[in-house]
This record gives sequence, structure tokens and C-alpha cells, in this order.
Amino acid sequence: RKRALNKLKKSAATTEDGINIELLANMESVDDIKQLHNLGADGVGLFRSEFLYLNRDTMPSEEEQYEVYSAFVKKLKGKNLTIRTVDLGVDKNPRWFGQNTTPNGSLNPALGLTGIRLCLAEPVMFRTQMRAILRAAAHGPVKMMWPMVASLSELKQCLVHLETAKRQLNERDETFGNIEVGCMIEIPSAALTVGSLLKQVDFISIGTNDLIQYTLSVDRGDDSVSYLYQPGHPAVLKLLQHIIRTANRMGKTVSVCGEMAGDNTYTRLLLGMGLRRFSMNPNNLLGVKDMVLRSDTVKLESEVARLMRNEDPEKTDKLLKALNKVEE
Ligand code: PEP
Ligand code: MG
Repeated sequence: RKRALNKLKKSAATTEDGINIELLANMESVDDIKQLHNLGADGVGLFRSEFLYLNRDTMPSEEEQYEVYSAFVKKLKGKNLTIRTVDLGVDKNPRWFGQNTTPNGSLNPALGLTGIRLCLAEPVMFRTQMRAILRAAAHGPVKMMWPMVASLSELKQCLVHLETAKRQLNERDETFGNIEVGCMIEIPSAALTVGSLLKQVDFISIGTNDLIQYTLSVDRGDDSVSYLYQPGHPAVLKLLQHIIRTANRMGKTVSVCGEMAGDNTYTRLLLGMGLRRFSMNPNNLLGVKDMVLRSDTVKLESEVARLMRNEDPEKTDKLLKALNKVEE
């Protein structure tokens, strides 16, 4: 099976009815770049920048970040790099944060000062990272993505900081590139108001890991409730369908970058909802490609419409099995 999958490295991810699907990689360091090229990934759909901020006593400087991002851009040789601005909080607390910004000790740390909230509370840190990303964009195609956005006002604040960051670079006569900007959709409030968020950005990416957690009120890392962490829960599927449809209708780029994108149990389901971009752990890329090659989006559309009428989470598995059956 592994050998059969290896044969897919060079083939394009095209469905039976001729639709090209973009398969992107999630990355947490620059080390896996070889694997990305080797697998024929179309680019990086999610670069988690947290590693730059952890296990150290000071914030990373603009220069230090610029070095990392620009080296990465160059190694990608023209493929897209989507850099997510730092998503700290909960399990990822840098030592140099003061007591007031660490969610430790609060009753629900995941619902505290995390992700974009923390960046908006630390604008100097935020704009430093933005400037480094903008400068790296002078060397190749770069996109900037904001995590854990819950509302339009947060998104508008991000855009104001971005303008300030550009102005600061201009004042220094620093070279920087054009970037597309987008946000993650991983909080139910963002999912339900995605149309107004989309008007402000070039693209969105769905973070199913958090979207499932917050929709179902199930801690994504707590084993005692892991049986309730159901990607196929009809409530999650309704949100996914709404997000994907709205983005497609508005002609905006949408991808999924949570674990669901790399689990080929859900490939056909997502294709049937209209998804055309998947970003995943590179180890899953060939398995998903294999599924794409054996799928017909036109047929899937009507099959998925039928599956979406179900509201019983217990029945999803059986319905997915039927959807994923291979006709030889
Ligand atoms: C997600 O929430 O689905 C996601 C991709 O982000 P992270 O796993 O880094 O929270
Ligand atoms: Mg997330």
C-alpha cells in the first residue's frame, strides 16, 4: 500500500471529473522542507510560528524572524507560504510574559487571552512580527494569517496594525512585498458571521481542531472526553458547509488546515461541500491525494447533500462509510 501511494508523488491531485485540488503542507519548523518538495505539495497552507517565541527569555526580534521567514520563502522556490501570526496562550506560554497576560490560574484558560486577543493586547510584539513577514514577502509569495479571530472588530484592528507596520517600514525605507491577508475560522462566532469577515480579507482557512473543540465544548486534549470529540458531528458539518459555501459564493479562497484536512475519511465529504484546498501534516498528503484521484465532485455534491440531512452524530460514521466506498 505504501509503495502504491509513493507512486502518487508526481501526479497532480485531480478528481475524476477533472477538478484540480490544491494539497498544501502544515509546518512547524523549516526542517521538513525537503519532504514538502519530495511529496509535490503545492505550498505551505499553515506555518505555525510559535516555535520562534517559546523556550527563550526574550521576544524574537524583527531581524531574527525576518531571517527565518525569508530563508523559508527562498527554499520554497515560488510556492506559497502562509505564515500564521503567533498563536500563544493555553498550552503555549512564553516565559517572558508577565502575570497579567498568562492565562494560568484562570478557570478556562482556552477561553482567555489567547491567539489574536493576546497579539492585540501586545501590539508591539504583533507589529514586529508583521514587519518581519512583510519583508520576507519581498523574496516570494507570502500570505499572512491571523488565528482565533472571533469577530469583525478584531479583524479590523488587525488591518489597522498591518497598515501601521507598513508605514513603519516605509519610514525606514525598508523593502517589503505585497501580501495577501486572511484569518482562521476556528471559533463558532466567526463561522456564523464568516460573510462579513470575508469582505475584509483575501482568504480564510478553517481550523477544525479548535472549531470542533468550541462547537462541541470538548477540550481537544482531554482524554476523558475524547469520545465526544467528533469531527463528524452534524453541528460541525453544518458550520463547515456554511463557511465553504459562503467563501465560494463570494469568490474567496478557502482551505481547511485542521487535522480533518489530513484524515482521508473526510476528503470526499469536504470535496462534496465544495472545498478545493486542503492543508495538512505532510505525512497524510499521499493518502488524501489517493482519495482525491478516486472522487467525482459532481456525484459527491448530491451524496453529501443527502448526508447533511442527518442530525444524529451516531449515524455519521455509517454515512461516511457509504460515501467513501470505492467502486472498482
Ligand atoms: C486548528 O485549530 O485547527 C489549527 C489548525 O490550529 P492549531 O491546531 O495550531 O490550534
Ligand atoms: Mg487553532
